[in-house]
Amino acid sequence: SLPLFLAARQSAKDDPKKIAVIDITKRESFTFTQLLEDAATLRKHIIETLGLTASGDLNEQRVAYLCPAGYDYVVTSWAIWAAGGVCVPLCTSHPIKELLYTIGDSDPSLVIIHPDFEQIAPALREAVPTGIPVIRCDPFGENEAPSLPSLSPSFSLDRRALMIYTSGTTSNPKGCVTTHENITFQASCLVKAWDYSPSDHLIHVLPLHHVHGIINGLTASLLSGATVEMHPKFDPKVIWERWQDRGSSTMFMAVPTIYSRLNDYFDTHIRGTDGEDAARAGAKALRLVVSGSAALPTPIKAKFAAITGQVLLERYGMTEIGMAISCGLDVDRRIDGSVGWPLPGIQVRLTEKETGRIVDAADEDGIIEIKGRNVFREYWRKPTATASEFTTDGWFKTGDCAIRDSTGAYFIQGRASVDIIKTGGYKVSALQVERVMLALDQIQEVAVVGLKDVEWGERVAAIVKFRAGAQMELPALRAELKKEMAAYKIPSVLKTVDTIERNAMGKVNKKLLVQKYWPDKA
Ligand code: ATP
Ligand code: MG
Repeated sequence: SLPLFLAARQSAKDDPKKIAVIDITKRESFTFTQLLEDAATLRKHIIETLGLTASGDLNEQRVAYLCPAGYDYVVTSWAIWAAGGVCVPLCTSHPIKELLYTIGDSDPSLVIIHPDFEQIAPALREAVPTGIPVIRCDPFGENEAPSLPSLSPSFSLDRRALMIYTSGTTSNPKGCVTTHENITFQASCLVKAWDYSPSDHLIHVLPLHHVHGIINGLTASLLSGATVEMHPKFDPKVIWERWQDRGSSTMFMAVPTIYSRLNDYFDTHIRGTDGEDAARAGAKALRLVVSGSAALPTPIKAKFAAITGQVLLERYGMTEIGMAISCGLDVDRRIDGSVGWPLPGIQVRLTEKETGRIVDAADEDGIIEIKGRNVFREYWRKPTATASEFTTDGWFKTGDCAIRDSTGAYFIQGRASVDIIKTGGYKVSALQVERVMLALDQIQEVAVVGLKDVEWGERVAAIVKFRAGAQMELPALRAELKKEMAAYKIPSVLKTVDTIERNAMGKVNKKLLVQKYWPDKA
């Protein structure tokens, strides 16, 4: 059977009342026993719907599913795995068109829709190729629950398990396929590094079509027998209240924009109220609070630490590799923008972009390359794209640029394709400029981009959302930034905006932003 199911059975045996999932929307808690039974029931339904009762095995057929973050999501994904299928989680905030892109590209034999999305079911039924059943995920409790089968002897961990579409920050989303071996390794590696245990209780607010929520949040927790409290979406008010009452929660994981909103909410609604001390103390009492998926601006980290005394643990990862680099649990946490050291069992190296030469020196930049059991199998039906992302000696080229200090700690400089700006012979890390700019009180959000330029190669440009009433003109902004960084790094073009568009993971698509504001310089 799958290590995840074996672990869940063990958790159920150790403590039959042990809660696996708390579903905030349903206001209900579910034990590991219940979860295993409900997954078995849905598995049976899936197998019957596809007429596979004889083999009982989907044999790597894809199943796309649209479920809000909650108990039914977990049941559905476990049922698909128990049936031998590949999970293709759909993004709940995607419009129909994007859902159909994912469904079309992943070529599933079955689509599962949660009753919450009933209103779009007819449109989906109409649009999916004929013959693909579209079913609901709630036949639990219809008949007596079968037990979750041990998968057939032919089942190997080398089978495909999960297909996550990349965020689409740099190109069309690609279906990134990982095997059971990959995801089990990714999750257990974190369990060891971050010390998850049955006494942990994770407050889960992340989307579940992305590695951060699925692996770091859900799978690693359930694998270790911890409880996952699932919130359908992030609401700063709810999270501060949860921390304030303490309860039993021990872990929280999120993306930088979430921490920024928590900081802002504290300033506007909690600071100076009766609940202030309890809120600060509650957040401080958490065992582990993690940030990742995008660069964490130092000012956001420093502010969260000033409010709560909790220094966020940063880590680096991506859809293709799960997590690869992380700050240590016990080592002093730093507020200098480092994402830490390679996780155990994962090889990390830096290479020069143009030549592929391995970079050994401290403070010299290079492209991060990764090797290990965490690394994905393939981009779905894109053999050429897959092949071009690997070196001849089998390292995965992340496309992210980083430097290492003398302790071997990594500092992410950004994506070589969009965040490393080449201007007048210098290389500028957009992330570093953003960090400095965000430290100014006037600036609420910023995206730094490179614009094609005949004279300079590229020019550094900033798209800025100023705080209410704190608008600045370019000369004043430049004068302010001159105190903090070298002249060639300072943006020479400024675009003031009301909102900077972000996807469900809080990521900015810089290529789209440049096309939108400077179409002739893209
Ligand atoms: P696409 O591959 O479709 O262009 P994407 O790369 O944004 O989209 P993800 O796999 O979701 O898709 O994101 C991984 C990327 O996020 C990494 O390659 C890196 O650029 C960035 N990232 C992740 N964690 C961090 C971090 N701690 N600091 C800086 N950047 C990070
Ligand atoms: Mg990517």
